[in-house]
Parts: sequence; C-alpha cells; structure tokens
Amino acid sequence: MSSQPHRVTVIPGDGVGPEVVRSAVRIIDAAGVRIEWEEAEAGAEVFRRGDTSGVPQATRDSIERSRVVLKGPLETPVGFGEKSANVTLRKLFETYANVRPARELPGVPTRYAGEGIDLIIVRENVEDLYAGIEHMETPDVGQCLKVISRKGSEKVIRYAFELARREGRAKVTCATKANIMKLTEGLFKKVFEELSAEYPEIAAEHLIIDNVAHQLAKDPAQFDVIVTTNLNGDIISDLASGLVGGLGFASSGNYGDSVAIFEAVHGSAPKYAGKDLINPTALILSSVMMLRHLGELAAAERIEDAVLATLEEGRAMTQDLVRQSGGDVDTAASTTGFTDAVIANLGKRPAAVAPKRGTALAGAVPPTPMPAWSYGPERYAAIERRTIGLDIFIETDLSADVLGPDLERLAGAGFRLEFVESRGTKVYPSVGLSSDGVRLLRARFVTPDGAAALDAALLGLQGRVAGSHPGWTHVEKLHVFDGAEAFTKAQGQ
Ligand code: NAD
Repeated sequence: MSSQPHRVTVIPGDGVGPEVVRSAVRIIDAAGVRIEWEEAEAGAEVFRRGDTSGVPQATRDSIERSRVVLKGPLETPVGFGEKSANVTLRKLFETYANVRPARELPGVPTRYAGEGIDLIIVRENVEDLYAGIEHMETPDVGQCLKVISRKGSEKVIRYAFELARREGRAKVTCATKANIMKLTEGLFKKVFEELSAEYPEIAAEHLIIDNVAHQLAKDPAQFDVIVTTNLNGDIISDLASGLVGGLGFASSGNYGDSVAIFEAVHGSAPKYAGKDLINPTALILSSVMMLRHLGELAAAERIEDAVLATLEEGRAMTQDLVRQSGGDVDTAASTTGFTDAVIANLGKRPAAVAPKRGTALAGAVPPTPMPAWSYGPERYAAIERRTIGLDIFIETDLSADVLGPDLERLAGAGFRLEFVESRGTKVYPSVGLSSDGVRLLRARFVTPDGAAALDAALLGLQGRVAGSHPGWTHVEKLHVFDGAEAFTKAQGQ
C-alpha cells in the first residue's frame, strides 16, 4: 500500500452509474487503498444545462490534475445534435487504446463454460467513423468520413503488442475489413504487419472482422489479444462480453499517453436506474484495472479474488445472473447486497478458477514511447507526390448518361472524365450495370497522362463544373504518393 493517497476523478454518470460507481468506491475503500476521490460530473444533466459538450470545464480540469478517472456510464442524448460525452472524454484526453478483457468467470453459466475463454480486445479509441465527421451531401444522402491514420494505428497496435509482451501472451490477432476498405482498414493491417516484425516472440495473425465474429461464436478460446479499429472493436467487444456472462461483467480501461479512464462497457441501463438491482461487477472489475494502473497490484488482486470468490459461492447473485442461472429472480441480491458480499470476501480466494493465459489482466501504460516511429516533416518531405485530378460529388436530377457527356465537355483539354459513379458503382461510361440513383453522383477527372495538375488548373476545372452544376457539394484531390495511387477505383471500373 502506498503512503501517498492517489488522486482519482470519479464521475458517477447517468442511470445506474451512481449505483455501480458507489459499489466500486466502497470496495476500494474497504480494501484499504488510499484514494482522494475528486467527484466530477458529465453526461445528461450537463447537456440539460445547455453545455453541448456534456463535459464541463471543471471536470476537464480535475482530469488534468488526476490523470486517472473512474466513471459510470453517460447517457447520449439522441437527436439533439450533441456528441456523445463518452466519446468526447476519450478524444479530449487521447485515450487511444480501449482495453476490454473477456474472461470466463466462476459461477457465471455460459454456453462456453470450461473452454477457458481469456481474451483481451484492444480497440482503437479515437479515430475511424467515431471521428464523427458526417455531412448530409443532399437532403437525403448522409456521408460519414472514416479516418484512419498511420500514427493512430501504430499507437494502438503497439499498445496491443506491448500488452501481450507484458502479460506473457502468445498471440495478437488483427481484425479488419481490409479486403473492402483498402486505404483505411488496409492501412491498419499494413501497420500491424510492419509492427509484428518488432515483436518476433508473439504470433501475429490477421483475420477479416466478419470471420472474427464467426470464430468468436464458434471457438472463442482460440483468441488471446485482438487489436482492431474503433467500430469493429465496439461491436466485437460487446459480443465477447456476451460469451462470458454479459454486459454486467464486462470491464474496460481507456489508456492514453497521460490519462487513463476506467469504466464498464455497459451503458446507463435507464430501466434499472435507482432500483439497487444492477450488477456492479463490470465497474468493480474496471476499478481493478484502475488499481493495477495505479500500481496497487496487491489490492487489485485482493479485490479481484473477492469478486471471483463471491461469484463462485453464488450466494449473492444479482438478478441478471440469477436469470442466467435459471433461478428465482425474487431471491436475487441487490447491488448493495452483492457489494457487501464482496467486501466480506476480501481476503478470500476462489477455489477453482481457470488459469489466466497471461500473468495479469490489462495493466499500466507501457513504457515504450508512443508512437515510436517518426512522423516529423522529414518523413513527408521524402515522399514523392503529385496531384493528378479531382473527384467532384454532384447533387443532380440528371441521369449519368446526360451528365457524363456534359462533364466530358467541361473537362477541357487538361483533364479526362474517367467515370461517373453512384454510391461507389460506375454508371458512366455505362458498363451495363444498373444502379438505383439517389441524386448524388461522383465524377472523377484525371490528367490524360497521369501528370501533375497545378492548383490553378484544378480550381479552373472545379469552377467550370460548379458553373454548370450548382449541386456540386464535395471535392477530393486525387494524390499519387511514391508512385502509388492514393484513391480507390469505382466498383465496376
Ligand atoms: P445498456 O448497456 O445501458 O443496456 C443494454 C442491456 O444490458 C439492457 O438490457 C440492460 O439492462 C443490460 N445491462 C446493462 N448493464 C448491465 C449490468 N451492469 N447488469 C445487468 N444488465 C445490464 O445499453 P443501451 O440501453 O443501448 O444504452 C443506454 C444509454 O447508455 C444510452 O444513452 C447510451 O448512449 C449510453 N451508453 C453509454 C456508455 C458509456 O458510458 N460508456 C456505453 C454504452 C451506452
């Protein structure tokens, strides 16, 4: 036990949040860990007061000071245009690695009991579709930009390999949809392949995310550490929690370079709010991850053992677990009752727990600098580049057969219209495929010989198209980096 108390920002959150946070705080206090809890608010009430970020400045200041957060779930208002306060917190403090363990627990009946599931999902936490860059391109067509960077990928993938190394785990599986999204998910896969060479003692494999879903349902014990992009990780980590007893048991830590945020995977479960019925195990196990991050390894072990012993005994089961066990819900323990049982079991060890694969559950931010690769101007100065054209999105009622010839005329001598596509499928020149139009078409203009186009020429082209087609709405430059086209073809091209 350390002599100096740790300072931790505690955010009770919405719905069942205050109940599960109170449970974890009581157990940590009972285990004798000295923590100075700094209570802060975020979420629904903050939105209601008109703060559209959901995370007030006082909370941000507290996190700057403490650098460690234990939080309850935050409700995301639907339909007000506000961003999720959870995502805001993760992004504000660049907690790029969301670590979600899923491990078979004693006394928690599942279809996979006895198979030894003990996997950790490391989900990229700040990029991908969660960058939240969305636009309505027309009144009826929305578009969301999927942002994946080499640096963001390196940080989270390196985190996964470091975690595997630290815990003595044998394998890291990278899960992407690189076969379809070659420049975003494909970049993540490429970085994984490059980085795996730096960790020769750890087996590295890549699987397509849909197959990972299939394999998780069929044979989940084959997985050890899985690293994946944000949306994939969001979905498969909920799936993984279902394999080991459900959201009531799923813990997580969000790790950044300087701040770490610990929370349950589950949301605010509004129907249970204030009823003292919810299972607090997920938040308690998240707080165990927090204690390991704070270096309180013995206390973490003691609390984890007490939780496992309580589950194994089966005397204080919350209603979700009673239901899974086929018992009478009227006999279920309350949140407080379960918490009391865990406190009474501090010092006890479970009798039979499947051996852990590694040596410890997810721990502290690794010592390796993040990122370790260089992203200075010299890297970019060394890359040969040219811009060879434009993609222009146009809202129009014209058919591609009418629009196409007009765009060929507007291309002028400096450019060639390569294609017009609708939702990614080439519709001009016709390839015999018919696409259901949604009044948004994309035209690709390139220089005839692939030569570099000057900005003046690109802007001239854009001006000519805009002059004839006022529905133009989105423009992308077409780059070639080190001789490789930095854009994808259209389907059917
Ligand atoms: P939810 O996780 O709140 O509930 C999904 C289901 O799981 C419900 O049936 C619920 O009763 C059950 N469940 C959740 N936690 C449980 C627990 N500890 N023990 C037993 N059963 C549990 O998801 P939702 O209903 O989709 O979302 C509710 C709100 O929470 C939304 O506003 C959402 O945006 C927010 N949310 C927040 C976070 C977060 O703060 N990290 C995560 C997910 C959802």
